[in-house]
Amino acid sequence: MADRHMTPEQFRKRGYEVIDWIADYMENVETYRITPTVQPGAIRAMLPDHAPEEPEPFEAILRDLDAIVMPGVTHWQSPNWFAYFPANTSGPAILADLISSGLGQQGMLWATSPACTEVEMVVVDWLVDLLGLPQQWKTTQRGGGVIQMSASDSTHAALVTARHRAAARHPVRSLVVYASSQAHFSTRKGANVAGFEHVRLIEVDERYAMRVDALEDAVAADLAAGLVPAFVTSAVGTTGTTAVDPVRQVGEVAGKYGMWHHVDAAYAGTAMTCPEFRHHQEGLDLADSYVFNPHKWMFTNFDCSVFYVADRTPLIDAMTMRAPYMSNAASDAGVVIDYRDWHVPLGRRFRALKLWWVLRSYGAEGIRAVVREHVRLARELAERIDADPRLELVAPTPFALVSFRHLGGPAPTQHLAEALNATGRVHLTASRIDGAPFIRVSVGQTYTEQRHVDALWELIDELATTD
Ligand SMILES: *Cc1c(COP(=O)(O)O)cnc(C)c1O
Repeated sequence: MADRHMTPEQFRKRGYEVIDWIADYMENVETYRITPTVQPGAIRAMLPDHAPEEPEPFEAILRDLDAIVMPGVTHWQSPNWFAYFPANTSGPAILADLISSGLGQQGMLWATSPACTEVEMVVVDWLVDLLGLPQQWKTTQRGGGVIQMSASDSTHAALVTARHRAAARHPVRSLVVYASSQAHFSTRKGANVAGFEHVRLIEVDERYAMRVDALEDAVAADLAAGLVPAFVTSAVGTTGTTAVDPVRQVGEVAGKYGMWHHVDAAYAGTAMTCPEFRHHQEGLDLADSYVFNPHKWMFTNFDCSVFYVADRTPLIDAMTMRAPYMSNAASDAGVVIDYRDWHVPLGRRFRALKLWWVLRSYGAEGIRAVVREHVRLARELAERIDADPRLELVAPTPFALVSFRHLGGPAPTQHLAEALNATGRVHLTASRIDGAPFIRVSVGQTYTEQRHVDALWELIDELATTD
């Protein structure tokens, strides 16, 4: 039977080859056309309909990576990536993920992998200080952080917890969820999945931030109709334009009506490593939960979303299930954190390892330096756009997203976005706001530097024709 498995010796040899392959990719990704040109079904058509009956040599497997997979890959790791938000990788994170795979830990309980749990507790506590979050959110205090797969999962966990808490006093059918019209749809989706029947999208102001007076009005109307305000999301950096809701004021409304206040900083959370951005999240002492994604801007491979609660008791109350085969002395004594009680999944990977390696390899200084450079590059681009008579900004740039349009209107804006992406040399996102198209340029890929943004500006300048 032994020869059916890859031996450690074979693994060592193939492992070197694969590391070389990844290093080559990192070296060359900048020169690739960012988006693939394949038609739907093209990759599938190159693959057999059935799994192989006989074992195949590793050479063949590696060959098909280049022949079949690579033509269908979108190069999110190109420094010319300006679309959506970044989904960054970095050397330390990739290597730590490899170790995590090698160790194959299941960190559902403290007892099933003490290191998996305790390294995670330490890095989420470190991040409380690095992001200027309330001290109470540390695992050594009443709150705590946990790594989840995505911001959508984190927001869903917050909604489930809020529903569980409110359902002790009110019928679930009466509970209402609020978020701004610009909030990420994960609040709406999470509310659906968690069984809320009422979701109100609140009007925004001219900077696309939630209008607190409109929130108050919506709450009053719901109360008058016999409904119960239960949950509100504040966005710190919306996905559309990185707008920032007034966190303290929303927190005050939430406090007045006993609502759960969740803060979604999925993208912008990384910027909070720099004190000069923290005024955007002033008022977190009034928040019940918070999410940010190191897998966006913090050089930590997907998946890694950090979810904090100010008080872990309601989360654990909502998520805990007991089973006899899971009982163990440490859990029974109540002296450890069992992270399976902090989210829907039971099994969990050792994701803290990559975050730990990133924080140690870059140091807080290193992360701040790259974030500040990305923000500087974005603001410089925003100034160029603002000064161009053909173009205009549609929203401020509090972080590293530039939102703009062509003054010629919807058609030239759409045309410019398409022309830029058609070059294959850059990639950005065409979106819509207030019914009109605009272009999002997100500066933040791990390796994006001045020369990449300069080249992007030259392309914009060249393609922003007026006809
Ligand atoms: C990206 C984003 C999300 C969703 O993130 P996932 O981790 O992919 O679920 C949620 N909220 C905001 C503000 C985002 O930018």
